[in-house]
Amino acid sequence: MTVGSLHDCSHLFRAVNERIVQLAAPLVDEDDLWLVCECPNVGCMRMLRMTCSELQALLDEERIYASVPGHERGGPQKVVDRTKEYVLVSFPVDVTPLEPAA
Ligand SMILES: [Zn+2]
Repeated sequence: MTVGSLHDCSHLFRAVNERIVQLAAPLVDEDDLWLVCECPNVGCMRMLRMTCSELQALLDEERIYASVPGHERGGPQKVVDRTKEYVLVSFPVDVTPLEPAA
């Protein structure tokens, strides 16, 4: 897999998480959100826990993604933060995010 396609997978999972939050926000405790792992493995279906404020900070960062601990990869990705629930991983800046299909 190229760096670009790894990033595309994480970018796709980010879109899923944004949608989960939009749909679930009125129904859930905002300090106990369950989101999909944003690791580059397209078949990964693991969930991770995050608070609403943690998620908001993450959504402001286009190139940082949240993975279940242990799902971070080496190579071009860099771990920028680590908690009991998730690992934040950044992609290099020269990778262009996947544009949504028209
Ligand atoms: Zn994963």
